[in-house]
Amino acid sequence: MLAEQPGTRDLIAFVARYMTCSACHHAYGADDVAVDRYSAGFWILSATCPACGQSRTFTAFDRPPYTQMPDMGMTNLQPLNDADVGEWAAFLAHFDGDLIELLGTVD
Ligand SMILES: [Zn+2]
Repeated sequence: MLAEQPGTRDLIAFVARYMTCSACHHAYGADDVAVDRYSAGFWILSATCPACGQSRTFTAFDRPPYTQMPDMGMTNLQPLNDADVGEWAAFLAHFDGDLIELLGTVD
């Protein structure tokens, strides 16, 4: 099965985490990304926007950290800075909940 090819799950997770719909910039969920084909180390994936239905197909031939992935609305995440780290440190110093559950809510 295509989805069981080693690396496929990570690739789908990467798309869902970092790519957005080119039409409306809505995030993809893992269920919105499908593997159409795997061959000789590259994947052909299709992603369907859960918000507007726009579908696109792209080829991925990369491995983590996916530096060669096509630019299809990549979220431009800024590198963490000292202020981010300080903010998290302050938050975690007073956080007494379930960290696993907390991280599970991060999208
Ligand atoms: Zn969309």
